[in-house]
Formats: sequence, structure tokens, C-alpha cells
Amino acid sequence: MIERSLVIIKPDGVERSLVGEIIKRFENAGLKLVGMKMVWIGKKFAEEHYHAHSKKPFFKELVEFITEGPVVAFAIEGVHAVDNARRLVGDTSPHRAAPGTIRGDFAHLSMEYASKKGLGGKNLIHASGSKNEADEEIRLWFTKEELHSYSTVHEKHVF
Ligand code: UDP
Ligand code: MG
Repeated sequence: MIERSLVIIKPDGVERSLVGEIIKRFENAGLKLVGMKMVWIGKKFAEEHYHAHSKKPFFKELVEFITEGPVVAFAIEGVHAVDNARRLVGDTSPHRAAPGTIRGDFAHLSMEYASKKGLGGKNLIHASGSKNEADEEIRLWFTKEELHSYSTVHEKHVF
């Protein structure tokens, strides 16, 4: 039940100076940071990260969006970390994301609106969609040496 998940603050989140605010939400929930980096990914890496969407009509725009500036990627660890990260992030389309979630609090556009404008859906953040996706994505983004095992006080009081 203790899992790891991959979270990426997308270029819109970095450019809007929301990095600290977003990381704080995961820390507040007791999820442990086990790896972190800022990186400006290229087209090939973006296509690999989003390979499951390669046949989708928004794929080209999505790759353009995720490569338009640096991102902050981090791996978190905790109980049901994959589901918990998705819960904090909110619905894919910010107009449907509940207040209190990252997408619901800091964005409001819809995927339909983005598509109409020919843009990737700027929704601030990525979080792995399943345990398998998380394992695959963490392997893609981090080497073993970049992932750390240590104890936090949360493990005594929250885990
Ligand atoms: N996306 C988009 N247009 C769409 C649907 C998705 O640009 O119609 C983008 C959006 O940035 C989303 C990403 O593609 O976060 C990956 O889509 P997915 O369905 O996996 O959503 P997520 O897992 O990020 O909530
Ligand atoms: Mg997804």
C-alpha cells in the first residue's frame, strides 16, 4: 500500500511561480518527497512520457505545451500515493476540478476550450494515473541514485 507516484509541475505552473504552493500541498498531506528535479524536456522525451496518448487528437499540442519551458518533477511516497496525488490534483479539465484541488484553485479553462484554440490543455500539473504508470514514469524520469530513502516525522504520526 505504500506507493510512489510521479508529479510534474508543468511549464504553466513554473511560469506562474506556483512551484512552492504546489509542493506544499503534497508535504501538508504527509506525502514524502523522495526525488526532485527541474528540467526542460525535449520533444523526444515528452513523446515518451506521454506515449499512451500518441494517437489522441491533442498529442501534438500536448507535446508542444509540455516542452515550452522548464518543469519541476518530483516523486512522492506514501499510503495510496497514486490515488492521493490525483485527489490533490483534481479533474483533468480545470473547469471540472473541485475547489481545494490544485487545478480547481489555480485554473479554470476546459480541455474543449484549449482544443478549440489549438493548444495543449494548461492544467498546471501531472500526476501518474495508476500504479503501473507511476512505476514506468518514475523509471523514465529518475535514476536509482536520484531517489532517496529516509524517514519523516509523518511516518510516526500519519502513515
Ligand atoms: N490534454 C489536452 N487536451 C485534452 C485532454 C488532455 O491537452 O483534450 C492534456 C492535458 O494537459 C492533460 C494531458 O493531456 O493533463 C494528459 O491527459 P490525461 O487524460 O492523461 O489527463 P491527466 O492524467 O493529466 O489528468
Ligand atoms: Mg494521465
